[in-house]
Amino acid sequence: MDGRIQSCRYRLLFKFMSLSILAALALSCRIDNSVQPDEPNQSESTLPVIDIISENCESRDGHGIDMIVLHHTGSSVDAFRIAHFFQDLNAQVSAHYIIDRNGAIIRSVPDNLSAWHTGNSFFDGSDNVNQRSIGIELCNLGDNSEDFSYDQVESLIKLMADISRQYNIPSTRFVRHRDVAVPAGRKIDTADNLDVAAVYASVENYIVSGFLDVPPAAPVSRSLSRENARLYKVVKGDTYEYISWLIYDSPALADSIRTANQNRDLIPGDSLYIPENPFDLFE
Ligand SMILES: [Zn+2]
Repeated sequence: MDGRIQSCRYRLLFKFMSLSILAALALSCRIDNSVQPDEPNQSESTLPVIDIISENCESRDGHGIDMIVLHHTGSSVDAFRIAHFFQDLNAQVSAHYIIDRNGAIIRSVPDNLSAWHTGNSFFDGSDNVNQRSIGIELCNLGDNSEDFSYDQVESLIKLMADISRQYNIPSTRFVRHRDVAVPAGRKIDTADNLDVAAVYASVENYIVSGFLDVPPAAPVSRSLSRENARLYKVVKGDTYEYISWLIYDSPALADSIRTANQNRDLIPGDSLYIPENPFDLFE
């Protein structure tokens, strides 16, 4: 009898405890739910971005996004003018984002599409660099004479952190155009005075700690030889279209290069004048 009463008490106690645990779980779920909307949604960019969309893009053809490629524009013009240049269908070039000297970010191509920014390139066993990457252009002369501004590098770090978080891209897959361009040496961006190692470390740190540290410009031990960058030695089989592709990732500047070289025939061994900055062709 006592035993039955006792076991009945235990059962009641057990039932009470079970209900309490369930109630506590339900409460904690409610608390979790109520907190969630206030947490930052890491799958969406919180950065202010201006859309000036280019149609110079294509499907990623099933490739996931697992790289970030940095460029400089090699030009004195601002991000708006670059964005409008990317809208020119004849230009056949684009990048996903352009960061102006004042830190403003323009989006030119949506992330889910492949932009045309790397040309012939290769990285980690793949030549589909455009289809796997997000391309970011930094407005800068690109000859080490102009600092990448504090505001610009701050926006770059925030944007890279956003992209890195969204697509789970490790810092080992942050690269400069010159790191992936084929043949090696075809591209010089980004210029040496952007300390990319420090930028990549800042991106990682910002993701982990939320602390944003904008590194100073890198000391430049040697300046790029503009003379060498401006000369192209013609080889057998060259055409102006091919040279335009090779230097600027686009055939669109072939006529401008031809004009800049007095319409001369391409003779192997001759040197051509190739402006380092393609916008010089339009000035
Ligand atoms: Zn580039």
